[in-house]
Amino acid sequence: MAKLIDGKAISQAIRDEVRDEIAAGGIKASLAVVLVGNDPASTVYVNNKKKACEYCGIRSVSYELPEDTTEEKLLSLIDELNNDPEINGILVQLPVPKGINEDHVIEAISPMKDVDGFSKASVGALSIGDKGFVSCTPAGIIELLKRSDIDIDGKRCVVVGRSNIVGKPAAMLLLRENGTVTVTHSHTKDLASITREADILVVAIGKPEFITSEYVKPGAAVIDVGIHRLDPEKNNGKKLCGDVKFDEVEPVAGYITPVPGGVGPMTIAMLMKNTVAAYKMQH
Ligand code: NDP
Repeated sequence: MAKLIDGKAISQAIRDEVRDEIAAGGIKASLAVVLVGNDPASTVYVNNKKKACEYCGIRSVSYELPEDTTEEKLLSLIDELNNDPEINGILVQLPVPKGINEDHVIEAISPMKDVDGFSKASVGALSIGDKGFVSCTPAGIIELLKRSDIDIDGKRCVVVGRSNIVGKPAAMLLLRENGTVTVTHSHTKDLASITREADILVVAIGKPEFITSEYVKPGAAVIDVGIHRLDPEKNNGKKLCGDVKFDEVEPVAGYITPVPGGVGPMTIAMLMKNTVAAYKMQH
């Protein structure tokens, strides 16, 4: 039976550390949170980020713009926030409505305030091992492994998925920690034969319960990034599942993250950490 990696507890520990650091260091960090439109999922994410700020002692400044906001208007707000010394981090909740180019938005944010770590400057810094903001979900994966005493150095790591927001940065981070990393994707042949070699298997494929026990080496650490909503009435009351078929993989793996309560809670905790890092960088 696998040891459960408790993302909720680890995320709480990080939030407490951030809160203590802020209180002890007289840090007055501010995060601008920009939401365009009224997508219900985005609204929930933004509210959770604001709550986490409040918990940690970070000032969050909220900008809620209507669905029909033009790209020009949004870029002009970002410019204003870039030049505002009272704002340390800028977060634009993605996706933005159709008609606004996401890349233009990401690139408009100053690399000094890019607490989401999505800009080319941040991604480039990560690739060449320079200092910069690391996007929150992949950074959270590394924290989960480290705080569960799972050594990455020299380990065979397989990442399933190569998206710019999860798969690729997760692979770069595992490499930075001296893992031997293989990245797989939809063109990979015989995926199971590769994933079965992994000591650490990171799954960000976006397909519900795709990874079954035949994909997993006994004793491996399995990190499930996927989040999918389920109809509880058709799933014995279950509201969410991951990319990993938990019930089947859990008896085989050495460590496993649950969904919910695994990678999910880490994203906001890492955002809090990045915001304090932004404040320190700017002071
Ligand atoms: P994307 O859809 O952007 O990427 C999925 C990746 O999986 C692609 O690289 C794709 O390959 C690959 N893939 C698809 N099918 C296969 C297959 N059969 N075999 C191997 N690889 C395959 O997803 P994201 O990275 O954005 O997200 C992945 C999951 O993580 C989603 O469930 C998402 O909801 C969740 N997520 C969770 C977060 C959190 O905070 N916990 C944050 C972000 C995402 P190719 O490139 O060839 O198309």
